[in-house]
Parts: sequence; structure tokens; C-alpha cells
Amino acid sequence: MDERLVPLCDLCGQPGGAVTFHTRRTVVIDEGPGGNLRDMGDHWSACARCAVHIRKRSLHLLLNRAVLVWPEPLSGPQRQKLRRNLKALHSKFFAAEPREMKTDKEDS
Ligand SMILES: [Zn+2]
Repeated sequence: MDERLVPLCDLCGQPGGAVTFHTRRTVVIDEGPGGNLRDMGDHWSACARCAVHIRKRSLHLLLNRAVLVWPEPLSGPQRQKLRRNLKALHSKFFAAEPREMKTDKEDS
């Protein structure tokens, strides 16, 4: 198994993008003055933990989790900045109306 192929969670940055959500609208992040517009698309991978919070539409719990498990060590101010950035991202993600894609084959 090629470890480089492990999908990352788009919400918290941890390995394990096990659940797929499609948003009704494309999510675009404005990085501010001097920054770029980042097109996040409408296809999101979420780990099992984040997926629980997404199903409940709990921005607060999703944000807490992402800041808690963020892969890089952070100073206090960095953590506050990360929290602001993630809050903007997660807010837009919820506003774009994510729907969970079932991986099991469904009869229709
Ligand atoms: Zn996650």
C-alpha cells in the first residue's frame, strides 16, 4: 500500500478522509489582501470524527476538533489565527450545504 495515497481530511488535516461530502455550491476562500482566491471545489473528504460533527451541522465542535488535532505544533497566537482561518473555512463549507455521499451501493 502506498502511504502517499492516504486521503487527508479536508476539515482537520488528519489522515483518514473516509467520508465524502459534496457541497451544493463550490467553496471559495478569499485569503485577503495579497492573497489568492482558493477554489476548494465541491468534493470534500472528512475523517470519521469530523463526519459526526458535519452530520450534526456543529460548527463549534468541528472547529474545536480541528484545532485540537492540527498536525503542526502551534504557539498561542498561531492557534488563534488557525482557529480564525478554520472557522471561515468551516462556515463556508456548512453554508454550501454539504451532503454525504454514500459509499455503499444503493438500489434505486
Ligand atoms: Zn477530520
